[in-house]
Amino acid sequence: MSLLEAQKRVLSGMRPTGNLHLGHYHGVLKNWARLQHEYDCMFFVADWHALTTHYENPEVIEENVWSMVIDWLAAGINPGSASMFIQSKVPEHAELHLLLSMITPLGWLERVPSYKDQQSKLTDRDLTTYGFLGYPVLQGADILIYKAGQVPVGGDQVPHVEMTREVARRFNHIFGRDSGYEELAQEAIKKMGRKHAKMYRQLRREFQEKGNHEALEKAQALIQEQQNISLGDRDRLFGYLEGGGKVILPEPQALLTETAVVPGLDGAKMSKSYGNTIALREAPESVEKKVRTMTTDPARVRRTDPGDPDKCPVFKWHIIYSDKDVRDWVQAGCTTAGIGCIDCKKPLIDSIIKEQQPMLERAEQYENNPDLVRSIVAEGCEKARTIARATLEDVRQAMGLNYR
Ligand code: ATP
Ligand code: MG
Repeated sequence: MSLLEAQKRVLSGMRPTGNLHLGHYHGVLKNWARLQHEYDCMFFVADWHALTTHYENPEVIEENVWSMVIDWLAAGINPGSASMFIQSKVPEHAELHLLLSMITPLGWLERVPSYKDQQSKLTDRDLTTYGFLGYPVLQGADILIYKAGQVPVGGDQVPHVEMTREVARRFNHIFGRDSGYEELAQEAIKKMGRKHAKMYRQLRREFQEKGNHEALEKAQALIQEQQNISLGDRDRLFGYLEGGGKVILPEPQALLTETAVVPGLDGAKMSKSYGNTIALREAPESVEKKVRTMTTDPARVRRTDPGDPDKCPVFKWHIIYSDKDVRDWVQAGCTTAGIGCIDCKKPLIDSIIKEQQPMLERAEQYENNPDLVRSIVAEGCEKARTIARATLEDVRQAMGLNYR
């Protein structure tokens, strides 16, 4: 497969740890549904990732694998346009994870924001495990094994995709060099003169070992300034800086929706573990009840107090669900105490229920036909394995592991 084709592949996954909610829908699934018509889309059930936080109660995972696929189908993911599969059915992810783990500096993992965040938030479980620390490397393998160009995720995942880019760059740097490449690059460095050569080497090390992008930019500027080197050497110096050589694993890009982080009923990020969600397939009565009790601007205590929509999570949902007229009506009514919070929530409740109606109907078809869901996933797994095997061939070859 050419790299150009790969850039047209989309890859993303979700953990089967509970019912999907509006955060997943507006943060991610809307993008999946949009992309499936234009790109070769591969969506996977991240059951191994679910184990990182649920290793003590894995029954939760089994319960949710199939219902999550039904959630996707309900949200409009079309099995004719996109492939859906289960991570653990494609064990090649694990082999690539192991190989990438050899070259991933520990410091990169310790600096991933979710590592400390999750540990401090999910205090009821022990997350000081090897698997939890390393899961961004597994995520890197999930993406790179399909040489995917785009990864539609929520805002919290951006640092992981960024790290995947760094791991790919490092892999290409170490294993993608043609013979003689290193020597030619070293000669080009010498041609810059002693002082600049030393600066170049320092900045390159700073970038490759620590991922320091400022150092990368400084080094690039340094190359630009050079007067006495050929075009070929200039290219070589640029390439060598970032890893150079052949691109075996292309760098992916994160893709966000307009609402990259959807707030929950309490205003914090909507999340299963915070109990602040509205499920994708929530019963209409329950949607109404939940929105009615949803947190509003804390300064608006009495009905007669004016409120500030900018401080109110309900207004964030109006941005997702309501047109300009409704938003203007909320803005004017809230800031003058012309309307109460229950009035403000009414059109929102209607919009959510209206949006969910067709999803509930679609889901029912699949719930009544579990064999169909299984065959959709079986087909996806087969396609995924074929691609994953081919990438691993390239990887083993590049690493010199294809001896017989
Ligand atoms: P939860 O936070 O509810 O436990 P999760 O984070 O365990 O869900 P993941 O499988 O890790 O679920 O995430 C699936 C995708 O959904 C990721 O791309 C993540 O960024 C996105 N996502 C989850 N919650 C939100 C949200 N509130 N807003 C936007 N995107 C979200
Ligand atoms: Mg998450």
